[in-house]
Amino acid sequence: MTDKPPIKVVFSPETIQRRVRELAEQISADFAGQEPIMLGVLKGCFIFLSDLVRQVDFPLEVDFVRLASYGSSDTSSGRVQMVKAPELPIKGRPVVVVEDIIDTGVTLKWLVEYLQSMGPSSVHLCVLVDKAERREVEVEVDYVGFKVPGGFLVGYGLDFDEQYRFLPGIYELTHQGAGK
Ligand code: 5GP
Ligand code: MG
Repeated sequence: MTDKPPIKVVFSPETIQRRVRELAEQISADFAGQEPIMLGVLKGCFIFLSDLVRQVDFPLEVDFVRLASYGSSDTSSGRVQMVKAPELPIKGRPVVVVEDIIDTGVTLKWLVEYLQSMGPSSVHLCVLVDKAERREVEVEVDYVGFKVPGGFLVGYGLDFDEQYRFLPGIYELTHQGAGK
């Protein structure tokens, strides 16, 4: 067996920065004058959200949720729980959820339903990476950075067992046991 590098580049830092700027322009055009709450899903969102809000050119507020998934994240039976709820009042406000990756869709579908129960004026979804082919439940995503067919991605906030979050690009883990 030959030595394979454990990760390969999927999106370079430059490619990501360009795409994030485009997403910010789109969001700026759509939400001008609305003062949305940009709601990041911890921890994976932390770099994407930071880059995104600095490119948006209107007033906004930032908040975070943290979710835990139980059971296999490979199946739609995975249960989701709110570990850290939003702190800002959401009633009557436009909310833009900022998430690293949508895969089966279970997590974001659950989060949208949770947020809807708090009476926001709107809920939109912004994800950096969409694994659309792996979707198991229907979720409407409004802003998508990149589409990928699969593979387990790390970097730019995304981890594997808490490793790799700090990397400036997005990479695919290619070693055995990397999952998905
Ligand atoms: P879901 O299957 O519910 O759409 O996604 C569950 C969670 O799994 C996402 O919030 C995301 O954080 C994580 N996830 C899905 N695919 C990947 C991946 O390729 N890399 C990493 N680091 N996390 C992923
Ligand atoms: Mg996540």
